[in-house]
Amino acid sequence: MFLTLTHVTKVYGEKESRTEALRGIDLSIKKGDLCVLLGPSGSGKSTLLNIIGGIDAATSGQIQIGDHILEGMKEKDLTKYRRDHIGYIFQQYNLIPNLTVRENMETGAWLSPDPLDIDELIETLGLAEHQDKLPHQLSGGQQQRCSIGRAVIKNPDVLLCDEPTGALDYRNSKEVLALIERVNQKYGSTVVMVTHNEAIQKMADHIQSYLHRRHTAR
Ligand code: ADP
Repeated sequence: MFLTLTHVTKVYGEKESRTEALRGIDLSIKKGDLCVLLGPSGSGKSTLLNIIGGIDAATSGQIQIGDHILEGMKEKDLTKYRRDHIGYIFQQYNLIPNLTVRENMETGAWLSPDPLDIDELIETLGLAEHQDKLPHQLSGGQQQRCSIGRAVIKNPDVLLCDEPTGALDYRNSKEVLALIERVNQKYGSTVVMVTHNEAIQKMADHIQSYLHRRHTAR
């Protein structure tokens, strides 16, 4: 297995404000898989992604990604781990407003030793005719496509998607999901997607290869 979580727990706060966000998560994902984790709001999905992404530390348990064991890793090594291996897509696109689509994508390649070819990626994401536009000149779906490009340009081993279609309508959601799948297939990134939207399961079923390679866990 490429990504393995063993008995992962996360507790926030103490006494009255104590919240158990994760209670012993076990999860194994093969390299190159596309994994969809479904759960209602507040069930700990973002917490789980932040722990896999090395942004937040688990309270207990083990997280292994390839050769990397995250618990006990020094901050400096965690920063390098995040930079070299993790791409992140959020519900909010978080694009830099005064940079063009192309320039926003370029920011994702900074410090990367082996970035993907930006022109090919722009083409793959269907953004060629929009590449010189600013974010406010784009639709929500196009902005999310740009943020996918920014996340994957460094060719991360792991692509973490936190409600990537949360701000989009049905048609744009389908398009964005199809592109995430395309990225998964073309570049081989292991994808972990979390959502509360069960419709994503239905949408995903329209995409052939989701049927073979998708995991869904609740
Ligand atoms: P989801 O992504 O499924 O909506 P979250 O991972 O955001 O769930 O949150 C899980 C639980 O942990 C919630 O009860 C939330 O209030 C709590 N929580 C998340 N982050 C923090 C934090 N930084 N401090 C305290 N509680 C938190």
